[in-house]
Amino acid sequence: MSDRITRLDDATVRKIAAGEVVERPASVVKELVENSLDADADRIDVTVENGGTERIAVSDDGIGMSEDDVRAAVREHTTSKIEDAADLQAGVTTLGFRGEALHTIGAVARTTITTKPRGGDRGTELRMEGGEVESVGPAGCPEGTTVEVTDLFYNTPARRKYLKTTTTEFSHVNTVVTRYALANPDVAVSLTHDGREVFATTGRGDLQSALLSVYGREVATAMIPVEGESDGAVSVSGYVSDPETTRSTREYVSTYVNGRYVSSPVVRDAVLSAYGGQLSAERYPFAVLFLDVAPDEVDVNVHPRKMECRWSDESAVKEAVGTEVEDALLDHGLVRSSAPRG
Ligand code: ADP
Ligand code: MG
Repeated sequence: MSDRITRLDDATVRKIAAGEVVERPASVVKELVENSLDADADRIDVTVENGGTERIAVSDDGIGMSEDDVRAAVREHTTSKIEDAADLQAGVTTLGFRGEALHTIGAVARTTITTKPRGGDRGTELRMEGGEVESVGPAGCPEGTTVEVTDLFYNTPARRKYLKTTTTEFSHVNTVVTRYALANPDVAVSLTHDGREVFATTGRGDLQSALLSVYGREVATAMIPVEGESDGAVSVSGYVSDPETTRSTREYVSTYVNGRYVSSPVVRDAVLSAYGGQLSAERYPFAVLFLDVAPDEVDVNVHPRKMECRWSDESAVKEAVGTEVEDALLDHGLVRSSAPRG
């Protein structure tokens, strides 16, 4: 035995691991919203206080959990979404599958899960604090699940110190919820901050009405449809704004690959060049683009938290996005044709 090197105790290991998953309130919101979507919710309400640093609550009308389910769900590496490595190999269709979110969130905050299975007659409330289950008991609640997370990082002061202002933390939360609301127009998603409703989508199913709810009328009416044929390996659809409707950050160019949000410089650059110099310096359009790509043409699991992806044929993606966006802008007379295309 070394007297210099020791094995960390479980509680310390847990706190370190938690830091990898939960960096800030927005990471908690992301995990909880993904769980609600995986639970087949038609409605997801996100409520945060003080940028999420004080309180985060995500409420859904999804499949819910039995008492046994919820007891199991908060343990380490527990999931209902895959059973073994073969399932992983076959391809995961849910947003989660690592089985670590509820456990790690429970380790760095005070967490209450209230849940009732669809068609069930009993609700359950489970309370956790600093990684330990404090109580489990019956609860009167509607079908679905509400997860409430308060005092994030109360037991990891070093992390708590790195939280930014309410405004900054809330803007990260807003970005995350917006992302899922736009990708799932058939789910009614609402976001409330400090008692004020920031947006609420209808869940009607069309992207245009989701854009209206999230970005407001001025932006929504400036968006034109992109309609890509799926002749090549990549098909592209969604909306882009006219070249006058811009912001000073690239954040409003959103890309989804096979339904999953990805941060793709390749796609973003292709979108920007499609405007052919019509954008003012340091101005970026709004774009919400869905790419359908054969699963073997893209790896979206390069890093679970960075949302990057790796293309097998980058230039095909660039070409497809560039062509479709430019065609849409040309159709609306919003850019001049740059060069003859065959
Ligand atoms: P993962 O999502 O990777 O499976 P989590 O720790 O996020 O891991 O969740 C663990 C399990 O808890 C999930 O697999 C699911 O069965 C259950 N669960 C979590 N959130 C919900 C929810 N909102 N509704 C129903 N079940 C849920
Ligand atoms: Mg999850």
